[in-house]
Amino acid sequence: MANIIALVGRPNVGKSTLFNRLLQKKEAIVDSISGVTRDRHYGKSDWNGIDFTVIDTGGYITGSEDIFEGEIRKQVQLAIEEASAIVFLVDVTEGVTDMDYEVANLLRRTTKPVFLVVNKVDNAMLENDALEFYSLGFDKYYTIAGMTGSGTGDLLDDIVNIF
Ligand code: GDP
Ligand code: MG
Repeated sequence: MANIIALVGRPNVGKSTLFNRLLQKKEAIVDSISGVTRDRHYGKSDWNGIDFTVIDTGGYITGSEDIFEGEIRKQVQLAIEEASAIVFLVDVTEGVTDMDYEVANLLRRTTKPVFLVVNKVDNAMLENDALEFYSLGFDKYYTIAGMTGSGTGDLLDDIVNIF
């Protein structure tokens, strides 16, 4: 089975920034995989010699709360179906939100591995703030700054380890 990492989470947590970071220097977005929609972007990369595909979800979803039931739910369900590992991204600068809890509840239904990734941890002082995300109930817990790539190496080490 293909190694597929899906990036999920509410709008603005930094999914697309992380997607671009993971694909850095890699060629292109693949559009040949079945199930591609305008709202999902696929790219190929590798880590420690292991190839994988990344899916960025929710590209056209904007910040409003009332779109959750429709769009984000759909994106999370698709991710659960397609992915071999799910990266659940949250934002330390906003803290835990109701939408994070809703995404968390959807993800609890899968037996696939879920990596809870607290993003925008741009400096060591924010590590402490990030701890509140343990309340979402996932034990695979990581802090990163997708913008700089800080922390993404440790995350990828552990993800490709399950492939
Ligand atoms: P998406 O809606 O989940 O795809 O989020 P985006 O990738 O579009 O990012 C939303 C905003 O968060 C943008 O302004 C990014 O520049 C910003 N952002 C993403 N990653 C980081 C980070 O590591 N640190 C900080 N401070 N901002 C970030
Ligand atoms: Mg995006």
